[in-house]
Amino acid sequence: MKKVLIIGAGGVGSVVVKKCAQVPEVFSEIVLASRTLEKCEKIAAGTPRPVKTLRVDADSVPELVSLLRAEKPDLVVNVALPYQDLTIMDACLETGVDYLDTANYEPRDEARFCYKWQWDYMERFRERGLMALLGSGFDPGVTNVFCAHAAKNHFDRIHTIDIMDCNGGDHGHPFATNFNPEINIREVSAPGRYYENGRFIETPPLSVHEPFDFPEIGVREMYLMYHEEMESLAKNIPGIRRMRFWMTFSENYLTHLRVLENVGMTRIDPVRFKGVDIVPLEFLKALLPDPASLAEGYTGKTNIGCMIKGEKDGRPRTYYIYNVCDHAECYRELGAQAVSYTTGVPAMIGALMMLSGAWRGKGVFNMEEFDPAPFMDRLNRHGLPWTEKFLEE
Ligand code: NDP
Repeated sequence: MKKVLIIGAGGVGSVVVKKCAQVPEVFSEIVLASRTLEKCEKIAAGTPRPVKTLRVDADSVPELVSLLRAEKPDLVVNVALPYQDLTIMDACLETGVDYLDTANYEPRDEARFCYKWQWDYMERFRERGLMALLGSGFDPGVTNVFCAHAAKNHFDRIHTIDIMDCNGGDHGHPFATNFNPEINIREVSAPGRYYENGRFIETPPLSVHEPFDFPEIGVREMYLMYHEEMESLAKNIPGIRRMRFWMTFSENYLTHLRVLENVGMTRIDPVRFKGVDIVPLEFLKALLPDPASLAEGYTGKTNIGCMIKGEKDGRPRTYYIYNVCDHAECYRELGAQAVSYTTGVPAMIGALMMLSGAWRGKGVFNMEEFDPAPFMDRLNRHGLPWTEKFLEE
């Protein structure tokens, strides 16, 4: 019987709250805190179990510390923005509470995705006897667990991993992002990077692309991008030779993005406007649809998975593991769209792994460092069933 404090009342936060509410035997008390109290209250009103709601500015360590001292949760699930990762980790250290998130820390003034800042907390969490689980969403998150599952059960050696993320859905808006617009556009407009023979190789943004036939969706053009799980997988999958991350985009999305970039609307440095400094991308976020609001009427499916090549018993093997998630079904179950759903469900399962003791450790961990079996089992039970295939060479 454990108390969980969820920080961040966005599209993902809503799914985490509602999914935790479905597992009362583990999550006996649920608290939701975010910058805008009304958003917390709206989520609580749509959840069939009591959810305590509070306001917090997660950029402020003292505010977070007071919140944690008052609430005394067993675990903090951070589904606010990556900018808040370090302040929340600091508050957890100060108050002796375990920590989980779904996206790695990013400084506001630089779109640089790396685990270094959070891995630097290793000793402090270890000394305090606390556990931090990083990147417990879908990608990162489930994709790391898929790789651990493949390494444990299906390969003697893994040579290459291609993580492929396809959203084949249609939300009906001319342009919208499926998770926080600011974070999404920073990620997509950054240079691509892939791992080969011990180092990362950079490519111009969205310059490398190829078609792939995604099960239950069809052929889509996917683009090589950098994604944070490659950094931890490069460390934790011994002998890996090459790793790439791909995401699909429609021509329509890319055309809008190109125009926005060309006119300077995706800039993250401040611009002086009528006597005040504004960051164009932050202003653009205010204009674009809230990701949670896309859920109603969203049709189509997502397919996220890993294509893995290597050896088993001296023979080459190609293995493909993926999940397909239907936007409309997510809406029927929780009033959510599939991108929020596929992130929020693994955050709940990661929390469940920690609170039930299935995954325990002292320090800062990535998902592939634990036994994948109990997590894989929970994916099937909580709405994200997976399919695995052995392909012909
Ligand atoms: P949203 O923008 O919908 O929600 C973010 C929430 O955090 C908002 O409610 C926002 O409050 C709140 N917030 C922002 N700043 C603060 C602050 N200083 N203090 C308190 N609350 C704050 O984003 P999503 O729900 O779409 O995404 C949430 C997280 O999930 C992001 O970090 C994103 O990167 C991650 N993600 C991970 C994925 C994965 O597979 N690993 C995939 C998709 C997303 P307010 O409403 O007041 O602005």
